[in-house]
Amino acid sequence: MDGCSGSVGDNVRHILTTIRSVAARSARNPDSIRLVAVTKTVGVERIQEAMSAGVTIVGENRLQEALPKIERLGRKHLRWHFIGRLQRRKVKMVVGLFELIHSVDSLELAEEINRRAEQAGLSQSILLEVNIGDEKSKGGWAPTSVAASFPELSRMSHLRIQGLMAIPPLAPDAEVARPYFRRLRELGRSLTRSGCENINMDELSMGMSGDYQVAVEEGATYVRIGTAIFGARRD
Ligand SMILES: *Cc1c(COP(=O)(O)O)cnc(C)c1O
Repeated sequence: MDGCSGSVGDNVRHILTTIRSVAARSARNPDSIRLVAVTKTVGVERIQEAMSAGVTIVGENRLQEALPKIERLGRKHLRWHFIGRLQRRKVKMVVGLFELIHSVDSLELAEEINRRAEQAGLSQSILLEVNIGDEKSKGGWAPTSVAASFPELSRMSHLRIQGLMAIPPLAPDAEVARPYFRRLRELGRSLTRSGCENINMDELSMGMSGDYQVAVEEGATYVRIGTAIFGARRD
C-alpha cells in the first residue's frame, strides 16, 4: 500500500499530491475531491501532525472514542465526520457535533437523525450508505431501493442529504473495486433529478487506503483514508 512508510506528514502530502495528479489525468477538478483522514485508534498528537500537513477533515467511527479528541482539538480548525455504524441511542450526541454523517444505512436511522436535529433546531448533513456489492453482512440501501425511499426522506426537513457513500466488497486488488465505484456514481447520477429540496446527490464518499486512486478516477468527492496515513491499526 502506498504512503505507509514515511512520517504522518509525508504520507498526507503524498496522498494529497496523488489525489491532485489522479484528478488532473481524469479531467476532474482537484478541489472537488476532499481527503477525510480516518483517525480511529489514532491519538491527538498524530492527528495534529496530519493537520500540519494539510488535513482539515477527520473521520471517526466510534462516538466514545471521538468525544475526547473533539474536546482536545476543537471544531474550528478541524471538521469532524462520522463514518461508522451509528446506533440509534447515540444519534442525539452525534447530531450537530459532526458536520457530516457518511454512514446513514436505513430509513429508521435517517428518521431518528431528523427527529434529533429538529429538537436541536438544526439541519444535519448526511450521506446515504449504499450496500453496493449487495453483501449479506453489510447494512445500507440496496442500490435498487434508494429511489423508493426519496418520498419519505424528502419529508425529513431537518436532513440535508448530500449524496451517497459505499464500501465495496473487500478485495486484494483495487481494480476489483472499480465497477462498484462506477455503479455508485451512476446511481448518484440517476438520482440527481429527485426534485426534492433537501436531497442533492453532489457527493460520493468512496475509496480507502488501498483503492482511493481508482475511486477518484471514478468520481469520488470524499476519500476516507486511515492506514496509508497513520500505518496499520491493531484493531
Ligand atoms: C477504517 C475505515 C476507513 C479507512 O480504512 P483504511 O483502509 O485504513 O484507509 C474508511 N472508511 C470507513 C467506514 C472505515 O471504518
